[in-house]
Amino acid sequence: MRISILGLEDERFKRPLTLIANLFFEESQLVMSVDEAADLQIKFVLQADEAAISVAAELLDQNEAVCVSDYQKEMQPFESEKERFKQIKNAVSHAYLTVLQDFTGITQKWGILTGVRPTKLLHKKIQEGIPLETAHQELKDDYLITDEKIELMQQIIDRQLTVVPDLYSLEREVSIYIGIPFCPTKCAYCTFPAYAINGRQGSVDSFLGGLHYEMRKIGAWLKEKGIKITTVYYGGGTPTSITAEEMDMLYEEMYASFPDVSEIREITVEAGRPDTISPEKLAVLKKWNIDRISINPQSYTQETLKAIGRHHTVEETIDKYHLARSAGMNNINMDLIIGLPGEGVAEFTHSLAETEKLMPESLTVHTLSFKRASEMTKNRDKYKVADRFEVEQMMNLAQDWTASHGYVPYYLYRQKNILGNLENVGYSMPNQESIYNIMIMEEQQTIIGLGCGASSKFIDPVSGKITHFANPKDPKSYNDSFEAYTDEKIKILEELFSEKGSPA
Ligand code: SF4
Repeated sequence: MRISILGLEDERFKRPLTLIANLFFEESQLVMSVDEAADLQIKFVLQADEAAISVAAELLDQNEAVCVSDYQKEMQPFESEKERFKQIKNAVSHAYLTVLQDFTGITQKWGILTGVRPTKLLHKKIQEGIPLETAHQELKDDYLITDEKIELMQQIIDRQLTVVPDLYSLEREVSIYIGIPFCPTKCAYCTFPAYAINGRQGSVDSFLGGLHYEMRKIGAWLKEKGIKITTVYYGGGTPTSITAEEMDMLYEEMYASFPDVSEIREITVEAGRPDTISPEKLAVLKKWNIDRISINPQSYTQETLKAIGRHHTVEETIDKYHLARSAGMNNINMDLIIGLPGEGVAEFTHSLAETEKLMPESLTVHTLSFKRASEMTKNRDKYKVADRFEVEQMMNLAQDWTASHGYVPYYLYRQKNILGNLENVGYSMPNQESIYNIMIMEEQQTIIGLGCGASSKFIDPVSGKITHFANPKDPKSYNDSFEAYTDEKIKILEELFSEKGSPA
């Protein structure tokens, strides 16, 4: 869909308006001028001064206005040009979304929001002391979010504050993410740093050498500064792709290097691929008191697993789940994905029925997203996926099923190019929620990433400003440079947790 945008000279509008157009049409292309070849033309009249913003939008068909929208908003005090533009951009988006909704007949339940973390917006309002009713009304008026989604956000936030009552005051602790970039094989939809492990023992050995080094250095720094760790999460890749002995040494390192490991609120190890789980590895997890793991079926339909390149069987998932249970794992998460190729309501209903037989402590329901770098996106024509209405139906099924089986939603995030413009939701039995997931979504504290492809997110304990820092994605570059990356992280941490940030 080619859309010609008239009346907005500032190029900064192009990206947000393209993202919104993509909610309605596949691969929209925006031209910020008159364009003969355009399928749609939208004309704006924008006025903004110190006091107010006013936007009029007209969607034209053959030069006739077929949908119109007028939106006025008071200008809020701002400290920078960036903040001022954000208000104008939101007002323009408001008018733009309204005409596109009218024109297509599609209501976007998340309104103008295209970001990853909608709940953060509500948290912020709560932290600012805005009464809930007012906060909800603002979300509705300013962002056009529907009541259904506002209710979901509130439900999630209530749960998060029950599980982590001190969520708003954990900025002087940190969480740790450890990235292990290996998997038995690479799945078709995957864009994580994940390398097929077979035949790479040399590379695994040197990678683990680097990771141990990072853990020692960062651990020593945390101990020296007296900074506590809230949660640790081993992800990747599949952290259980390495051998039981390698896992054992890694956790031994964690206990030796990190401060007060027994006081860490939660340690999770992704054991996503059932084909990596063995009695020996489960015994190692148990030995080090790690009992929150994730075993991810994604689907209980064998043909689907084959189509997406997950070389394991449905039976194997079920068997490994029982094995993990009998080995004493008492907090198991399972992931399902809505909208995998060839799957519709029937297959998803089957997945839920199978989940019912297992009843894991938590269930994360993802909606398939076409990430740019994945094999699936590169060969999109090969994969037949459900349309937005069926995806929504499956999402509703997940919502009803979890509610009627005692699960509560406790975190959510959205992605670009997600089917049906929906969301990923983590459901859990009450008090079995993953605290790390809450930390990563709500961005209330620094998360230090160690290992391959691990991103660190540094959050200034005073200003809340976020700085991203990523370790190299491939093992070779990591092995060549982990020392420099560790030094760099310590430098950033020094600045953040220095005098200005030290506890009063
Ligand atoms: S198991 Fe997970 S990390 Fe590994 S290739 Fe598949 S999706 Fe990627």
